[in-house]
Amino acid sequence: MMRQSLVIANWKLNGNLKLVDDMVSALASARCSADVVICPPAPYLAALETATQRLNIEVGGQNCSVYSNGAYTGEIAAEMLAEVGCKYVLLGHSERRALFAEDDTLIAKKVQLAQQAGLTAVLCVGETLQQREAGKTLDVVKAQLSAVLNDVDFNRLVVAYEPVWAIGTGETATPEQAQEVHAAIRQYVATFNTDAASKLALLYGGSVKPENAEILFAQDDIDGGLIGGASLNTDQFLAICSAVKG
Ligand code: PEP
Repeated sequence: MMRQSLVIANWKLNGNLKLVDDMVSALASARCSADVVICPPAPYLAALETATQRLNIEVGGQNCSVYSNGAYTGEIAAEMLAEVGCKYVLLGHSERRALFAEDDTLIAKKVQLAQQAGLTAVLCVGETLQQREAGKTLDVVKAQLSAVLNDVDFNRLVVAYEPVWAIGTGETATPEQAQEVHAAIRQYVATFNTDAASKLALLYGGSVKPENAEILFAQDDIDGGLIGGASLNTDQFLAICSAVKG
C-alpha cells in the first residue's frame, strides 16, 4: 500500500484572515500531489474550513485539551475541533513540551482523546541539540513514541520527526540525518505493529524551505513535512507542497 504524502502547515501564533484568503487562493490554483493540511490559530479554523470546502485541503488544530469539557478556561476540546471540521491535530510539538511543560503522559492522553473524537493525531517527536550531541537521539525519540504507541489507533496517527535544534532556527537536519531517524522510527513502530509501520506517514519538520524540501522528501522514509515559518508565505509553502514525491 502506498503511504500518504502529506504537508502540514503550522502557523503557530501567526496569521490573520488575510492569510487565510491568500493561502486558500494560492492553493486553489496549485498543483500538488500531496495531501495538504493547514493548522491556523484556533480563531481562524472556521473561516479556513469554510474557504477550503471545495478544495482538497484539510484543516487541523495546533493542540487540544486533555479534558473533554468542564471548567477549563481557555481550553479547546478535541470534539470541538472535530465539530468545526478539523481532521487533524498537532500534539506533542516541542514548543508545547518546552514552553507549556507538556510531558509524554499528558501527550498520550491527548492523542487518545483526539483519536476518540475522530481526529488524526500528528505526534511530534524530536531531540534537543544537547541530546543529539550526547548520542541520545534515538533513545529520546523512542521514549516519546513508546508513551503513546501502547494504546493508539494507528489508522489515525501521523508521526512528525522534528529535531528541536532545527525548529525555527534556519538549521535543517541533513537528508541523511533525517532519513536515519525516520527509518529508526519506522522500525520502532514495527515492534508495536508491523503492518501499521509500513503504512504510517512520517513527516520531517525543522526549517523546511523550498531549497531543501525536495531532497528531504526524496528520502525513503520521509513522506512529507510539517512546516512552520515557510507555511506563512504562500509562494514558499506552495513550492514545498509541490516538492513532495507523488
Ligand atoms: C514547526 O513549527 O513544526 C516547524 C517545523 O517550524 P519551522 O519550519 O519554522 O522550523
